[in-house]
Amino acid sequence: MNNKDLAPESLMMGYGYDPQLSEGAVKCPIFQTSTFAFKKAEDGKAFFEIAKGSRKLEEGEHMGLIYSRINNPDLEILEDRLALWDKAEMAAVFESGMSAITTTLFEFLSPGDVLVHSSPLYGGTDHFVKHVLQRFNIQSYELHAGEEYGQLKERLEQDGLAHKVAMVLLETPANPTNTLFDIAATVGLAKKLGNGEKQVLVAVDNTYLGPLWCHPLELGADLVLYSATKYIGGHSDVIAGAVLGSKPLLARVKKLRTYLGSMAGPWTGWLLMRSLETLKLRMERQAASAAILAKFLSGHPKVEKVYYLGFLSPQTDASQYDIFVRQYHSPGAMLSFDVRGGEAGAFAFLNNLKLAHLAVSLGSTESLAQHPYSMTHAGVAEEDKDRLGLTPSMVRYSVGVEHPDDLIWDLEQALAFVPG
Ligand SMILES: *Cc1c(COP(=O)(O)O)cnc(C)c1O
Repeated sequence: MNNKDLAPESLMMGYGYDPQLSEGAVKCPIFQTSTFAFKKAEDGKAFFEIAKGSRKLEEGEHMGLIYSRINNPDLEILEDRLALWDKAEMAAVFESGMSAITTTLFEFLSPGDVLVHSSPLYGGTDHFVKHVLQRFNIQSYELHAGEEYGQLKERLEQDGLAHKVAMVLLETPANPTNTLFDIAATVGLAKKLGNGEKQVLVAVDNTYLGPLWCHPLELGADLVLYSATKYIGGHSDVIAGAVLGSKPLLARVKKLRTYLGSMAGPWTGWLLMRSLETLKLRMERQAASAAILAKFLSGHPKVEKVYYLGFLSPQTDASQYDIFVRQYHSPGAMLSFDVRGGEAGAFAFLNNLKLAHLAVSLGSTESLAQHPYSMTHAGVAEEDKDRLGLTPSMVRYSVGVEHPDDLIWDLEQALAFVPG
């Protein structure tokens, strides 16, 4: 049996783990240890040679365990499993989505470089890119939604920055508007901006529709980033992140992770392995319910507009629809909608939810609703909120695994409190 032929969901229960190495335990134990005993000094010496990169593994030689900042079974098995969904050569797991993103950006950007990025970005990423990287003389440059890639190249050339671009970071769909960015077109642009000596990398934050329904590596991207706190973890009980890509790129990310100490611990690794077993079940249920909720909301008199990828139309949203069909296999389970009456209307709705929780974060088993304008996106400048379509009436809703009829009952009774 060739494991590579099995679907990822069939492999999440056992892939990469040998019960015979752990007293026959069917499930991978939590290796709650900071350090690992070497059988003999020669082994310790050999493992360090590999870890430091002073020589490569010989044929048939295996890297041994040293210290949990460098490697740990819960982390290594989890990384092997996570890589299957995106068909990545390698994965690296981190203690948060932010540490996955920041470690990756630090590894591939140097003073003088320009980072092109989509907008809006997740609040933490936005702050890091605009305020922290700037202190290291790394400039951020915004790619506008709907902008032709030829236009962007022209803008960069006019500003004298085209030759400085080292990386493009996309977050698609954009949060909370579900605006799509074209991964394949970005890869094409990155190729044009690079040259024989310099490769311009494309990294995609795939938290919203991955790892099930979007595979950026297949579309030519170099790196995929995740907040594993969201769908991958899926139970609002763990903060974690991941980066996936080719072996040479991931070897660099893992090396910096060792020095920044931003790896996930064994307990986080174990929780995520447990979550991966139900990833597909959860996401499919969430997406099926989201379609039902979106339909209900779009016909409700207190709702002005619904932002749901399943509503993109080839007639009225031609270019977004075109990206959607090329890039995604499902509209996913994240909805935003404008409630009548601006902030007061949105707050009346949020304050009266009985089943869904009024909380930030997303992708969890329980439904979560929040107000991007004053919460997750409070840090976005006023004029940018306008430009990006972030309104005071907007509610963002992450659909959970509850019965859809119960979620609709909850929406209906909360919407009854909205004036008008
Ligand atoms: C939550 C989130 C992050 C940050 O991840 P943490 O796990 O909270 O550190 C980054 N990107 C996106 C799209 C997110 O939703």
